[in-house]
Amino acid sequence: MEVKKFGVIGAGQMGNGIAQVAAASGLEVLMSDIKEEFTEKGKSNIARNLGRMVEKGKLDNGAADAILGRVATTINLEDMQGVDFVVEAAVEREDLKFKIFQDLDKICRPEVILSTNTSSIPIGRIAAQTSRPDKVIGMHFMNPVPMMKLVEVIRGLATSEETFKITWSLCEQFGKTPAEANDFPGFIANRILMPMINEAIFCLYQNVGKAEDIDTVMKLGMNHPMGPLALADLIGLDTCLAIMETLYDGFKDPKYRPCPLLRKYVESGWLGRKSGKGFYDYSS
Ligand code: NAD
Repeated sequence: MEVKKFGVIGAGQMGNGIAQVAAASGLEVLMSDIKEEFTEKGKSNIARNLGRMVEKGKLDNGAADAILGRVATTINLEDMQGVDFVVEAAVEREDLKFKIFQDLDKICRPEVILSTNTSSIPIGRIAAQTSRPDKVIGMHFMNPVPMMKLVEVIRGLATSEETFKITWSLCEQFGKTPAEANDFPGFIANRILMPMINEAIFCLYQNVGKAEDIDTVMKLGMNHPMGPLALADLIGLDTCLAIMETLYDGFKDPKYRPCPLLRKYVESGWLGRKSGKGFYDYSS
């Protein structure tokens, strides 16, 4: 099946990044969210990113305008009836994703692949909400999407070979390098990354070091481009907590218990960059 129209559910930091790379690859994109202010923010974020690429000489003005012109927005999920492929990038909450997939299953044509950018929720659980589990797959982009090369492609138990091949080749069309993972909580990326971030938060919680020192150790000592606490702020502390909860619930292993400090920050609305405050202050 040829994919020409690409649907993105959620216009947040991941959704608008995915919309940008899909539009840059020549696809017509429809990006949805629950409120117009969110779709507008998502689209203006794409415009700002493209503007930066023009300033750096990576793109000319005409090409940037053409990419932006290929991104339409909606707050009505019903409008997804015309798309050929969907990636869902709404917040990391199982109940919410279940409802979106139940609705998409009714709205989209039967041959349409419904993929999810979930960081950790098992694909099989999401697929079971639909009448097309063979057409449900994980398409896990990294943040920030336009810059990061990797997409983890996750097969559910029922995912068909055709669904896998179409998703894999879309990743390549977007200029990304796909890697294959099987369906367990956290897949590969967050099974490894998130316990490391959680342990860094424990180091802060137990006053083993200050945030800056913990990040410096990992940057200069391990050659990580960002420290784990700065990375947590970039990912979003609500998303980090949700991933730890999924690992903890999925494996019932105490090594995945979320750090109480992480929970406290999220409960206080300190979500990292997107809220202006996390382990670091972004208010200015
Ligand atoms: P975000 O909070 O920036 O954006 C989520 C968006 O979803 C918001 O704009 C919200 O209004 C919207 N939304 C909520 N309910 C919706 C609904 N019913 N329909 C449509 N939109 C809805 O979050 P994000 O960081 O973009 O994360 C989105 C998904 O991507 C999550 O599943 C997350 O786990 C995953 N992910 C995040 C990262 C990361 O680094 N942040 C990396 C890879 C994957």
